[in-house]
Amino acid sequence: MKTANILGVSFHNVTLKEAVDAAMEQIRAGKKGYVVTPNPEIVYETLQDPVFRDIVNRASFVLPDGIGVVYAARILGIPLAGKVPGIDFADALMYRMSQEGMRLFLLGAKPGVAQQAAENLQKKYPGLVIAGTQDGYFKDDQQAIEAVKAAGGADVMFTCLGAPKQEKFMAGYLDELPVTLSCGLGGSLDVFAGTVQRAPELFIRLNLEWFYRLCKQPSRIGRMMKLPLFLLIVIKTRLFGGKK
Ligand code: UDP
Repeated sequence: MKTANILGVSFHNVTLKEAVDAAMEQIRAGKKGYVVTPNPEIVYETLQDPVFRDIVNRASFVLPDGIGVVYAARILGIPLAGKVPGIDFADALMYRMSQEGMRLFLLGAKPGVAQQAAENLQKKYPGLVIAGTQDGYFKDDQQAIEAVKAAGGADVMFTCLGAPKQEKFMAGYLDELPVTLSCGLGGSLDVFAGTVQRAPELFIRLNLEWFYRLCKQPSRIGRMMKLPLFLLIVIKTRLFGGKK
């Protein structure tokens, strides 16, 4: 798979369909791995944390989540097919999994959210087998691992603990977890459960989903300030060279 290197993160240059096709192939082959969906905030974090960057770059799929990454690619003159938001990838993957009766485990979010998400997803994708759920506020990692084992494992696990916790969890327990493909999907379970609304279609089409989220959750402003910082480094890299 072709990659686009943005500030040291090697994004896969794929469309949503190509990403889902490749993920399904990997699941069918039983080849373990994990999916990361970095946005500008995560790329910015990797600049300060080389261990985190290494974990991101070792993922089977590094999908550009959000328009900020696509703009960065354009500024750097690097080809990138477009954004592949984690939540869209998750939806398309579940549709395909449901056709083959595959098993999904949901890990993350506040107590009760993963169960609600499971109920909603079961209705939306009747062929999908929800193997089990576990909230994201476990005392120690072993508790979460045991929950996945007790459920009999899964083809796919949505690991929704926020970054960088979810990426470190997926990479750290890759061998131990009885899961083929783990997907780090941030706040997606809140959306699937209906506790957080996704932006209206128009905002998504105009690439203003980030703005909608900011208006709904003004407390995100601190995190979002990393976006202009990220773009400044991208522009500096374009003008003066350095790590692309
Ligand atoms: N979360 C969790 N365990 C933790 C910290 C966070 O399960 O120890 C969950 C949190 O409840 C939320 C998600 O992780 O559902 C992170 O959502 P956020 O909006 O930060 O992620 P984004 O979609 O912006 O990447």
